[in-house]
Amino acid sequence: MQRLRVTIRGAVQGVGFRPFVYRLATEMGLDGWVKNSPQGVFIEAEGPKEALDTFLLRLEREKPGLSFIQSLEYSLLEPLGYEGFHIRRSDASGERATVILPDIATCPQCRAELLDPGDRRFRYPFTNCTLCGPRFSIIQALPYDRANTTMKSFVMCPDCRREYGDPADRRFHAQPDACGVCGPHLSLWDARGEALAASDNALKRAATVIKRGRILALKGLGGFQLLADGRNEEAVLRLRERKRREEKPLALMFPDLETLECYVHISSLEERLLLSAESPIVLLRRRPDSDIAAAVAPENPYLGAMLPYTPLHHLLLRELGFPVVATSGNLHDEPILTDEGEALEVIGGIADCFLVHNRPIERHVDDSVARVQLGRETLLRRARGYAPLPIVLKRSLPPLLAVGGHLKSTVAVSKGSDVILSQHIGDLETAKAFFAFRKVIDDLLSLYEVQPAAVAHDAHPDYLSTLYAKESGYPAIEVYHHHAHLAACLAENDLEGEVLGVTWDGAGYGEDKTLWGGEFLLGDAGGYTRVAHFRPFRLPGGEAAIKEPRRTALGLLYELFGPDALAKGLYLPPDKLAAEGFSEATARLLGQMLEKGVNSPVTTSAGRLFDAAAAILGIRSVCSFEGQAAMMVEFQADESEETRYPVHLRETEPLVLDWEPMFREILREREQGVPLPLICARFHNTLAEAILEVARKVGAQRVALTGGVFQNRYLTERAFRRLEGAGYKPYIHQRVPPNDGSIALGQIVIAAARLDKLCA
Ligand SMILES: [Zn+2]
Ligand SMILES: [Zn+2]
Ligand SMILES: [Zn+2]
Repeated sequence: MQRLRVTIRGAVQGVGFRPFVYRLATEMGLDGWVKNSPQGVFIEAEGPKEALDTFLLRLEREKPGLSFIQSLEYSLLEPLGYEGFHIRRSDASGERATVILPDIATCPQCRAELLDPGDRRFRYPFTNCTLCGPRFSIIQALPYDRANTTMKSFVMCPDCRREYGDPADRRFHAQPDACGVCGPHLSLWDARGEALAASDNALKRAATVIKRGRILALKGLGGFQLLADGRNEEAVLRLRERKRREEKPLALMFPDLETLECYVHISSLEERLLLSAESPIVLLRRRPDSDIAAAVAPENPYLGAMLPYTPLHHLLLRELGFPVVATSGNLHDEPILTDEGEALEVIGGIADCFLVHNRPIERHVDDSVARVQLGRETLLRRARGYAPLPIVLKRSLPPLLAVGGHLKSTVAVSKGSDVILSQHIGDLETAKAFFAFRKVIDDLLSLYEVQPAAVAHDAHPDYLSTLYAKESGYPAIEVYHHHAHLAACLAENDLEGEVLGVTWDGAGYGEDKTLWGGEFLLGDAGGYTRVAHFRPFRLPGGEAAIKEPRRTALGLLYELFGPDALAKGLYLPPDKLAAEGFSEATARLLGQMLEKGVNSPVTTSAGRLFDAAAAILGIRSVCSFEGQAAMMVEFQADESEETRYPVHLRETEPLVLDWEPMFREILREREQGVPLPLICARFHNTLAEAILEVARKVGAQRVALTGGVFQNRYLTERAFRRLEGAGYKPYIHQRVPPNDGSIALGQIVIAAARLDKLCA
């Protein structure tokens, strides 16, 4: 039994939606309730997981004809034991919270008009209506009126004006409403910004650019995208080379669901996601032997795929009829570009042509990324379609600002019981990223009119976000990184009281100033005890180890074998050593670092254990992006393998999970030539078992799996099922990412708890 909580926004009020939900739930024998509120329709339904899945799918498939869902978010929670299904009284009281809608994928009616030669918006790439179209990316201030959007400079033609003023029309008060006569239009530019074509001609010529294997920069909804023929190896390689993005998987956009089905396997929940108003990128298991260029996602069994979500994308993809790479228009991992002038400057050397338009983008919004695991949606990047919808908490918080961490940065503000988590900003590694970060903060504070009572930040003294917080002028509240992970997971799962948080990631600043990352924290937003962690080891060269799993492997094995680890080259399998080992000079330097303990910080990171395994097994000794080695270890694992290595828990306080027996076995099996898929599976199985062991030892019933390591589907599913099978209650992230993208949410609830204590 589980409880499904659904929040639906859109044209769902006054169209018979509640009676429909009531009939459906009653017919399916589910217990719970449905109610209207100024924020949308809320549903809670309890029943077996399979029934809830079906209920969710039928909600969308069988909804009343006049209704349209602009946003549907759900989570699976603890059941409360409802009896019967009821329509609850509307909740009109209380402060009407400010809800700014995210950008909404093109609705079926607009899509039909777009392709209807008889319609006055035939092939008009900016068509939208009250139900669909840009919102968050064009809003400049509240209230949401045309004059407060980037559409204000477009004066409506008489036809549009009539629709806008007619309560019977689908475009009644549709703020971004426009048509070919009065609205934005397209231009095609060369890489120097010289105009080559306009309007429909520009679109057709842009399609030719892609067909010829060249790279197109497209000004999309929330920023620029770089497009190339997804089947053209040479084009994709050129894109990678120019963008300086070596191997990180690239997302693809497919013309339609039918085409996509030829390339990947799609479950019904995945199909729901792909076709939803949010239309995120969904990670899907690929079919063998497709014509997708190998360079799109090298050695990766998944493809990140999405469907067209604006009229412009629909038209372009129809013109092409094949999948295109659609990756963020930026250099490296900088924030996505939104302005055509800046785009010419920054990515003029990447794109051969620019398909642009004159509707300004107010703020950057990247494509969101989601995956289905354990039969439920997990967001890996929360942006377009989701941001800035609030995470609604059980209680009201003081007005606060949280500035997140360092990688995959997001920020958050609280207002009443809402926490508004910003769109994905990116890694705060460059001046541009830091600028975007500050802009997003100013933006959220002014849009929501929040005057923060305090600002919550990470404990890492050198993070730019920390420095920002300390200089902001607001009282600063320091929050430990892994505590924030735990609190974020509890907040979105509506959990109160002590929970065992398995907070595993790459690294976060710990209380003892070492790099934590394989922590077991027992607690809640109010506080925690570190009840267990992995055995610490040194990372020779510190930061450099993140990109070089062989350094991590060396550090870990040095802990076991001392200088032998280096002398005997244990950190790589013998056949790899010649090509991928360290140069003599580097080896000497690393040896000294480890021996003297200089420039080799101590870590308990779980993420780094994956890196060490990757190097020792010869899977990856140097990475081109963060997390690559860990991904490859996951992809290698044979899911049918059930055995594991010994787990050793040292009975100290806190408990220490010793990886030594596991790595000794891995070294032995490497010697014996045991196939990699078996070793990788056993490695995962051991970690899952370790989680269960600690839960047992600590006596915690509820276990939250959180941190970037739980982007790993194999580990998450294995650990979840092991825990559940043994009678524990595991929790995972659903609406906010397990990675550092949800640190700001955790920081805000912790800061609120701390202020409570002060006031008490
Ligand atoms: Zn529409
Ligand atoms: Zn018009
Ligand atoms: Zn983290």
